Amino acid sequence: MNALMMQFPLTLPHVLERMGQFFGRIEVVSRRPDKSLHRTTYGEIHGRVLKLANALQRLGVKPGDRVATLGWNHSRHLEAYFAIPLMGAVLHTLNPRLSPADLSYIMNHADDTVLLVDDVLVPVYERFRANVHPRNVIVWGNGMRPAEGLLDYEDLIAPELNAFTPPPLDENQAAGLCYTSGTTGKPKGVLYSHRSIILHSLVSALPDALGLKQTDTMMPVVPMFHVNAWGLPVTAAMMGTKQVFPGPHLDAVSLLELIDGEKVTITAGVPTIWISILEALDKEPARFDHSRLHTMVVGGSAAPQSMIEAYEKRHGLRILHAWGMTEMSPIGTVSRIKAGLETLPEAEQFRLRATQGLPVPLVEVRVVGDNGPVPWDGRSMGELHVRGPWIASSYFQNPVEADKFTKDGWLRTGDVVTMDGEGYVRITDRSKDLIKSGGEWISSVDLENALMGHPAVKEAAVIALPHEKWAERPVACVVLKDGRTATEQELRDFLTPLFAAFQLPDAFVFLDVLPRTATGKFLKSALREQLKALKLS
Ligand code: ADP
Repeated sequence: MNALMMQFPLTLPHVLERMGQFFGRIEVVSRRPDKSLHRTTYGEIHGRVLKLANALQRLGVKPGDRVATLGWNHSRHLEAYFAIPLMGAVLHTLNPRLSPADLSYIMNHADDTVLLVDDVLVPVYERFRANVHPRNVIVWGNGMRPAEGLLDYEDLIAPELNAFTPPPLDENQAAGLCYTSGTTGKPKGVLYSHRSIILHSLVSALPDALGLKQTDTMMPVVPMFHVNAWGLPVTAAMMGTKQVFPGPHLDAVSLLELIDGEKVTITAGVPTIWISILEALDKEPARFDHSRLHTMVVGGSAAPQSMIEAYEKRHGLRILHAWGMTEMSPIGTVSRIKAGLETLPEAEQFRLRATQGLPVPLVEVRVVGDNGPVPWDGRSMGELHVRGPWIASSYFQNPVEADKFTKDGWLRTGDVVTMDGEGYVRITDRSKDLIKSGGEWISSVDLENALMGHPAVKEAAVIALPHEKWAERPVACVVLKDGRTATEQELRDFLTPLFAAFQLPDAFVFLDVLPRTATGKFLKSALREQLKALKLS
């Protein structure tokens, strides 16, 4: 027997209307390229979204068309987040840090009909412009007229009506498209549906997930082109939460100024951002007021336990470690201490908080080894498989990568994990970064986390290099903090009590910077290439 519930589609216009109806005076603050602040409200954004939808329709954008953005985090980008899905089209966020070759490949693969681009990113567009064919290019300007052939965003929307009747929308139709940065192979596209975005937002906001309330002030440092800033701008709009967008200024001092000036309560980004903010706070602990900040969400790569502890013990700031993927919209797990475990010794609690944590509601997990499911004992390793309503079931127009998805409906994450009896997932490596030495696995993540606990080490990445006898051996690439020194022997001595002898790196290489992916993670493939001539004895 069926229940007597309404057919109520889970679509983004609901969030847009809610934002305009109930939270019209809530502020959205954006940092402009010249560092000045732009202030608007959800009420104003609501009206401008409707104008943008009309303008795009006038330009010929039809339901199903892909509309690309190449922009930093700001309120006009948020307008695109709503206007494009409102008209049944698909918001496709492009990552400006990718190479021109990748950007043109992605735009052509997605067949983007229109491109919205920041004025400060027009030079990036120029580098691949000759190879792509959007019908229109619209510039998010800051006072300057766009070059010949490009449209000005404000001119475009000014004459439009701020009323728009959306076409009928199916909750399962595509609303967003994001490509994984493709550290291996060609970038792969993931289509998000209206439904998946709504459900992802609801669960992200839960107190035991990221915990976002109306009374918060949320600053996404994670870019709007990196898995839609982890869904946070839409989640915040749904909750009616004030948003603070850092624009192109992602250095530690600029971010701390915003946290202080706008009284940010919750923020999110990849570990490399928090490593540099920690260094800035350590240098000048009293310069910024961060007393309202209650949560710093860290994900995208493993948050080192030493960083979690340093923030808490030295600055009273709380890191919330989360794990996810582009294929998962992205949220998968969040690490919070469960009831009954808060009595564990402090060191054990920090260890748990540095794991990737528990799956959030509606995400199911299994851990699969060579011979099927592995026990949840905190030691046995296997690949993490996931399924749920905001997890992709295939890539966009890409049959080649079909083996990422199992026949029985799971996504193979490529992450090698252990899971303990309480359900805490711990990533030991991405499968492509695992180090296999003499038949034994060595976790690069464990070595990196330990090294980043050394007082002189700012960043560390551990890679596998080929070895005649052992097949592979670990090599540590280390960046020291400004003004600090450490020798290879000191680092080896520091690790010795923490690891078995065979797990210790064969060599320590000191570098000025670590190469990064377009989303700010350490780029291990480049390090392997850079160090391939290194001879290990
Ligand atoms: P890319 O493949 O470009 O890195 P994603 O941003 O989608 O794209 O990366 C997802 C991967 O990032 C995960 O499969 C995992 O390997 C890694 N990752 C994400 N969050 C964490 C985390 N908290 N700890 C460790 N690894 C993480």
